Amino acid sequence: MERQVDMVVVHCSDSKWGDAAVIDQWHKERNWSGIGYHGVFLNGHRTSRAEYNPDEDGVLESGRPIDTVGAHCRGHNRRSVGLCLIGKEEFTEAQMEGLLHNLEELLRHFGLDADAVYGHYELDDHKTCPNLDMDEIREKLWEQMA
Ligand SMILES: [Zn+2]
Repeated sequence: MERQVDMVVVHCSDSKWGDAAVIDQWHKERNWSGIGYHGVFLNGHRTSRAEYNPDEDGVLESGRPIDTVGAHCRGHNRRSVGLCLIGKEEFTEAQMEGLLHNLEELLRHFGLDADAVYGHYELDDHKTCPNLDMDEIREKLWEQMA
């Protein structure tokens, strides 16, 4: 049976580089069962020393299977999908394009609308993650999906 999902939560890695494998490692170091997100949008820098690779900018890597409960937002994991943008406060155009595209796909798949998309900070007062204006994201999604 498919897991019931009624929200998608957007995060950032709070690092200037990384990928799903690196985050998997970080989360294992916290004694989690592995990466807590369902998807990661690369910014073209997989490691701290890696030069910018435009072919990997905006690419979506899979984390936990969508059918599996994630570990990314306290109190909201059971019924959500968690996506992570690599970056701290600045994200690439390709990442934003990839995110909007994937959000639309997820919303359509689960029969949701743009208001089902949240930023981590909207669900946890102690966070600023993903350091994006979520009203703007939702507005773009409403337009894109109209
Ligand atoms: Zn977060």
